[in-house]
Amino acid sequence: MSMAALTKTRKVQPYTFDPTILREYDIRGQIGKNLSADDAFSLGCALGTYVRRKGGQRICLGYDGRASSPVLAEAMIEGLTGTGLHVDVIGLGPTPMLYYAVKDSHADAGVMITGSHNPADYNGFKMTLQSGPIYGEAVQELGRIAASGEFETGNGTVAVIDIQDLYVARLARDFNRLKDLKVAWDCGNGAAGEIVRRLIKILPGEHILLFDEIDGTFPNHHPDPTVDENLADLIRIVKDKKCDLGVAFDGDADRIGAVDEQGNIMRCDTLMTIYAKDVLSRHPGATIVGDVKCSQVMFDDIARMGGKAVMWKTGHSLIKAKMAEEKSPLSGELSGHIFFGDGWYGFDDGIYCAVRLMNEVCKAAGPASSLTAHLPRIHNTPEIRFEVDETHKFDLVARIVASVKEQAKSNPEIKVNDIDGARVMTPEGWWLIRASNTQNVLVTRAEARTPDGLETLKSMVQKEVKGIGYDVSFSAQGH
Ligand SMILES: [Zn+2]
Repeated sequence: MSMAALTKTRKVQPYTFDPTILREYDIRGQIGKNLSADDAFSLGCALGTYVRRKGGQRICLGYDGRASSPVLAEAMIEGLTGTGLHVDVIGLGPTPMLYYAVKDSHADAGVMITGSHNPADYNGFKMTLQSGPIYGEAVQELGRIAASGEFETGNGTVAVIDIQDLYVARLARDFNRLKDLKVAWDCGNGAAGEIVRRLIKILPGEHILLFDEIDGTFPNHHPDPTVDENLADLIRIVKDKKCDLGVAFDGDADRIGAVDEQGNIMRCDTLMTIYAKDVLSRHPGATIVGDVKCSQVMFDDIARMGGKAVMWKTGHSLIKAKMAEEKSPLSGELSGHIFFGDGWYGFDDGIYCAVRLMNEVCKAAGPASSLTAHLPRIHNTPEIRFEVDETHKFDLVARIVASVKEQAKSNPEIKVNDIDGARVMTPEGWWLIRASNTQNVLVTRAEARTPDGLETLKSMVQKEVKGIGYDVSFSAQGH
């Protein structure tokens, strides 16, 4: 990146963002539609002002491999420095490397320019203070600061900092080196490529790299490991090359996907049981937080191992906040965000999760699949999303919560958890309906001990959805 950012070319003025880009956990939009360098500049002015008013002086900035990222970065740096903040430019890399820079260098804040797993023409901003993510009301506050045009002023400076080797060394430090493993790594042409390339050079064992070229057009498959078809290449390589383990990352590598030696997908709630066993061995009775989408098998297994399993709202910022409140050494979401407080800094880092998974495979008497062999076999649906009227989405869910609570009054076998929508436990298993925080959709999922039980749960969901005037179909069957 050039230092052209230091030349002031843009005019500081009040600015109104397209309100749809100010989201619950981040700012995200589509280039050429509702996101441009002007937005990045004004966000820099607003974010710089926000951080300065909290007493901050230094911010770290990183960006992913999308074509639009360097342009947004330059505009944002100009905005940030204009408020008097010093900017440490970490450069191209995964989101967790930016978080690592903020924690390790004790910066006041950090901003990552990334479209995460979204299509190539999307981009956005994930922002954090040293104390935790900027989300929810704070994102709206940035919009208000920009609209007011009342920014802090100053002459901030810029330094380009290369922390790649430092970050890689820190990741490698936590590998236990008990065994040489053969591991396949699918970077999906996302921002983790260079870091993983350096990491496997210093890790023992044999490593196979897939799609490590950072390419924001994602020419091979989409970098979202929660979608099964995106793991097809990884599964094939793991089987063909007889690997012990396969790991994959989303576009900015804050999320992990994994497959065992047989090529079976290990979903994040399953991974959580593997990590929990290790974490609970050092922190007996610790609280482990999982979101409402996670399998009951996970919560039960954590409790069986003596942990305090806490079910919490979906959303990585919300999980992070709950984790801090509970002083939890491990928390996670089905979507792939897993947070280690034990041994790590409490932020979501897909690459660090891969290292910790390798440790568990090393320790196991058998192969990777043996780590989950004790878990009861379940039948579940994938996550089903259906569109509803945005303005009523939370009311619709509230009506379903009221309806099932009413049923629970006369049927002691039904239990309702309404922490985030309705999660309903029945003798067959459980089902969930919640409103997405980021889209005009309701999300549903069901999980049962038997195929028949799953059919019962599906009809319960369909009945409730009909009750609010919509329809939902469970077309595809999950694993
Ligand atoms: Zn991500």
